[in-house]
Amino acid sequence: MSSPQFPSVPPSSPQLPPAPSVPATATILGVKVHALTNAHTLALIEAFIASGQPHQLCTVNPEFVVEAQHDEEFRQIINNAALALPDGIGLLKAARFLRTTPLPERVPGSDLVVRLAELSHHKGYRIYFLGARPGVAEKASAKLKDKYPNLQVAGCYAGSPALEENEAIAQRILATRPDILLVAYGAPKQDKWIARNLEKLQIPVCIGVGGSFDFIAGTAKRAPRWLQQLHLEWFHRLLTQPWRWRRIWNAVPRFSWLVVRRRFTLKK
Ligand code: UDP
Repeated sequence: MSSPQFPSVPPSSPQLPPAPSVPATATILGVKVHALTNAHTLALIEAFIASGQPHQLCTVNPEFVVEAQHDEEFRQIINNAALALPDGIGLLKAARFLRTTPLPERVPGSDLVVRLAELSHHKGYRIYFLGARPGVAEKASAKLKDKYPNLQVAGCYAGSPALEENEAIAQRILATRPDILLVAYGAPKQDKWIARNLEKLQIPVCIGVGGSFDFIAGTAKRAPRWLQQLHLEWFHRLLTQPWRWRRIWNAVPRFSWLVVRRRFTLKK
């Protein structure tokens, strides 16, 4: 896998906006996370599209970091991604506690999808929606189009991350030539799917977006704003999707324990 690519932007002239700076990196339990704001992320995404080169973006949360402790392929994918977005308040707290590079704010994947729809509305970027249960990607993109009527939807397809379907799905997407590919297969499947297909597809921006289509389509409910502000989104998930207890266990107590242990054993 190639190392992170940032577009080489020509020297600034009065017509060109200044190139967005390369973000600093925090390392949390051996997993890289970029110190980004939402605005900086969007500026880099625009620069990636202008470059025409393929880039993989991961929306990292504490559960990813726990999973990456025993899934080396997944850890390598995140560490080689052009951008590893800090999607999860736990990462901001862990960065502070471990005294690594501070992470200025959360860049949640589901908010990013909405911001990209708005950007497409203004700039004409073409977005492909891959993943989720049949019909959900269509519903999510239709909702976004209601709000941003000039959104350019290159295509929608549920498909599956199974290897047998890989080639047919890649060909289907290639034919539509999107600027941005959103993949909603959940982690780590979505991130492995993108890593496997990045060179073949040559799409400038490929992002794993987890359950975002479900939230936007309304087939899953996000925690109310006040619970999000109290950093209790995990508690809402436990109440509404109790069968996910193991994942919540990994994201909250297990992650916290690993961070505390790392701080006091001073391992990198
Ligand atoms: N998903 C899928 N195919 C699969 C596994 C998951 O399309 O084989 C979809 C699922 O329907 C959901 C999304 O992946 O829309 C995210 O799944 P999950 O809720 O497990 O991920 P998270 O948001 O927690 O990362």
